[in-house]
Amino acid sequence: EGLGVHVRETDLGEYIIQLLDEPPSHIVGPAIHRSVDDCRKLFHERLGTPLDADPDELAAAARDALRAEFLAADLGISGGNFLAADSGTIALIENEGNIRLSTSLPRVHVAFVGIEKLVPRLEDVSAFLQLTSRAATGQPIGNFVSLIQGPRRSDEVDGPEEVHVVLVDNGRTRLLADEAAWEALRCVRCGACLNICPVYRQTGGHPYGWTYSGPIGAIIAPGMLGLEEALPLPHASSLCGACVDVCPVRIPIPELLVHWREKAVEQGLTPRVETVGLKAYAKLAQRPELFSAAGAVLRRVPLGLGGRALPVLGGWMQERSAPKSSEKSFLQMWKEGIE
Ligand code: SF4
Repeated sequence: EGLGVHVRETDLGEYIIQLLDEPPSHIVGPAIHRSVDDCRKLFHERLGTPLDADPDELAAAARDALRAEFLAADLGISGGNFLAADSGTIALIENEGNIRLSTSLPRVHVAFVGIEKLVPRLEDVSAFLQLTSRAATGQPIGNFVSLIQGPRRSDEVDGPEEVHVVLVDNGRTRLLADEAAWEALRCVRCGACLNICPVYRQTGGHPYGWTYSGPIGAIIAPGMLGLEEALPLPHASSLCGACVDVCPVRIPIPELLVHWREKAVEQGLTPRVETVGLKAYAKLAQRPELFSAAGAVLRRVPLGLGGRALPVLGGWMQERSAPKSSEKSFLQMWKEGIE
């Protein structure tokens, strides 16, 4: 776009956020944070649809607008869900048909494929196609599956004159070199771990601050962007483990989150207040009388009045009420018999 090229997203969700000039918030549903009413207003302003248009009318309007762009495009860009090394076949899964049009109507097709998407043989792709569709949208297989093996042949009526594949590293070899985190490269970008994650469900994708959000975003960001740049994403998790249960390729996400947290400590990247606080806690926890006394003092701190001024809780308490302290410590209640 900086060179004056007109670039158009063609997936409906991507199209919506491009019109809104927003980043995606989900790897499968990029506009999931937007309501139908938001889209009604947007399409009314940009495409002239009625303000009470139903979702089918909105989709039809986008389809009309995009069809003209497909026919005028000089070059179509796609990703690649998988790339079979034996035949150079690019496998693409989708539900809207926009990838099929992007890869067959323009004169040139360029596929940008992450290096981790390479599989040895074309026959390996079929299992991955089903596994990805099921985990992403619950479908047996995507509505459109394209297997692209090159430009249009002389006896074919459509297809591009040129096909180029760009293998994208972009930090992946750095991730591969990590003794534990390389397992994240098995990811098929189905988005299931985002859908189940209690943190993602509360925050949405934008607070993660880059394209890949949710649990998978939190474990690949340190490898691809660098740990310092990615902090505090590995801490954006309660480590409940729900993501592992739904991940179709069984990436040990909580273990990798802990792995990055350990690395952050080893490299001295944790905030000083956290290091000092945990050391103080460790010392107190070894002295029961001191621990009880400190607890008694803390229970009397009027957090509701002065909590915002505290160095650790200040930011957290800007928008929240302080919890009410218990009258007794857990130890006291335990001794008295918890009901
Ligand atoms: S980590 Fe697993 S569940 Fe999450 S997007 Fe990747 S493959 Fe899907």
